[in-house]
This record gives sequence, C-alpha cells and structure tokens, in this order.
Amino acid sequence: MDINIHRIDLPKRIIIGSNILSKVPSHIIDLGLGRRALIVSGYGATSSYANTVKDYLIDSGLECWIVNVAKASMDEIAKVSSISKEVGAEILIGVGGGKAIDVAKYTALNNYTKFVSIPTTPSHDGIASPFASIRDLDRPVSIKAATPALVIADIDIISKAPRRNIIAGCCDLIGKFSAVLDWRLAHRLRGEYYGEYSASLALLSAKHIVKYSEWFTVKDIPVEAIRVLVEALISSGIAMAIAGSTRPASGSEHLIAHALDVIANYPALHGEEVGIGSIIALYLHGRNWRRIRDILRSIGAPTKAKEIGIDKKQLIEALTIAHKIRPERYTILGERGISSEAAERIVYILELC
Ligand SMILES: [Zn+2]
Repeated sequence: MDINIHRIDLPKRIIIGSNILSKVPSHIIDLGLGRRALIVSGYGATSSYANTVKDYLIDSGLECWIVNVAKASMDEIAKVSSISKEVGAEILIGVGGGKAIDVAKYTALNNYTKFVSIPTTPSHDGIASPFASIRDLDRPVSIKAATPALVIADIDIISKAPRRNIIAGCCDLIGKFSAVLDWRLAHRLRGEYYGEYSASLALLSAKHIVKYSEWFTVKDIPVEAIRVLVEALISSGIAMAIAGSTRPASGSEHLIAHALDVIANYPALHGEEVGIGSIIALYLHGRNWRRIRDILRSIGAPTKAKEIGIDKKQLIEALTIAHKIRPERYTILGERGISSEAAERIVYILELC
C-alpha cells in the first residue's frame, strides 16, 4: 500500500434532533442502505426504543428483525452474525448504549452490511466512531469496526439517560486533552503519524465540555447541555474516523482506564475511569491537572478510587501495569511505566484515595 494514501470513511448522514425515530425509515431509504434490517438492542429499557424503530420500519415497507444482546462479547457477536446471515440483513442497526452499538458495529464490518447507530445514552464517544470495545478479546482496547452510514441522535431519548451516564460521557471527552498530548509525544519521539486536523477536532470536543461544564453541575441537566455533549461525542468519533485510529481520542488516560478494568473487572463506567485517568495523565504531562480535577468534581464525576469502587492497592497496581495494556501505543507512560513508589506518590499528591 502506498503510505501516502490515507483513506477516510465518514458517516453519510448525522441527524441530531428531538422525536426523530419516526424519520429513521426515510433516511435509510433516501441513503439507499437496503430494505432488510436487523436491529441489535440490549435487554433493558432501550429495547422499547428498538421496538419503536422496528414498527416504523415495517410501516414503511422495510423488513425488520430484532436481536437482543446481554454484553459486547464474541459469543453475542457470533449470535448476531448468524441471525444477520440467516435473515439476509443488509443493515445492522444498533439501538442502545455501548453494548448494542458495539456489537452491531463490529458485526457489520465482518458481515459487509451497512451500520446505523441510534444511541440512547451519551456515556462514550463510540456513537459515531468506527471502533468498538469488545470485552473478551485478548486485550481490553477498542478494535476496528464499521463506520456508521447513518447516525440518529434523538436528544429527547438521550436526555432521559441516567445522570451518571451523561457525566461519564463528559469524562470520556475530557480524556482527549491527554490523548492528544500523548499522540504528539509519540509523533515527536517515535515518528508516528500525527494528524493535526483530527487532533484539533478531538481537542475541540474536550474544550467544548470545559466551556459548558457549568451546565452539567446541576441535578437535572438541561437539554441544551445534552445537545452540546452529543455533538462533542460525535465530533470525537469523527476525529477517530479521520485519523483512521483511536489515537486522537485515546492515550495514557485510556490505558489507565483499561488497566482498572483488568485489575478490578470493570469497576465503573468507562468514562468515569477515563476521568480519573485524565487527572493522572495530565499530572504526568506537567499540565494543569488541578483545573481538570476541579471541573470533574464540579460536575459530580468521580475523582477518587473509592468513588469508582476500588481501593488504593488496586489503583496502584493498575497504574503500574497500564503501560503494558497496549505496548505499541506510545504515551507519557513510556516503555517502563509507573513504578510502585511513583504510583504511591501520585495517589498522595493527586488525592486519589
Ligand atoms: Zn473512551
């Protein structure tokens, strides 16, 4: 392959609005995505949205089936893949949170079907990105998946998500500050490809959350804030699509979050772990970690180990193994990572316990 060729696959259409599920069929038809759709949904509250979408599709003369998944695992992916082939699905529609969207997105890439993303929670930036987080692979990192052809973000639905999920989405975006610093470092130190445009776009999504952080401090977060968050999450996903990797959106703060998942078996929401990882990563970069910690505190995000259900020993262990999670991804953690003495000091200085 010519190394000068950089291919970018972007979503064909992104719709953000209120009460827009009824418009799903017309966008699918308009974009010529196909007439046979398999909806992937979770088992919880979001399955009712999946039924609503199915009814709209059938009313519009499309064929539609629903499959429910309990987790984003290879078993569930195999199940969805075989049903998709059995019914001859041309489109996989993920309706739900991370699990349903990740399973639909990953299966769509492998089955050569179109992928439509209909998020019901704003807890992570996988809404529009071409990467999926699958739990039982060798490593807890995101892998290549299909770029959504269509994203339908219904603000009415997303604003009904639990406050905790909304704040987790803010934290995932705040992680872009250190992700971009790590990317620049890898570029300067290791000659890794660095895309300034996608880095700027990812940074913008983090700055947007900081700019509007006041809106997220209240108990009932206003709908305008949800819109800001959803737009920023989509921007971060597009930054990954432009970069062709998760680099603009995932650096040492994500390695720390993944290490926490390994040590404590997914103790908290992904974004909550990334928030804590960001404070540490910014400290290591010598940046203004106090400001970010104060913003996280102000919006009610966890900034201490116990708030994500882990103890000091687990946190220190996670910090010392974070650099091993993805050795090819160079970050401020370097090749040897954080020593346990340094981890102890970090925990003390950053008041993490
Ligand atoms: Zn993330």
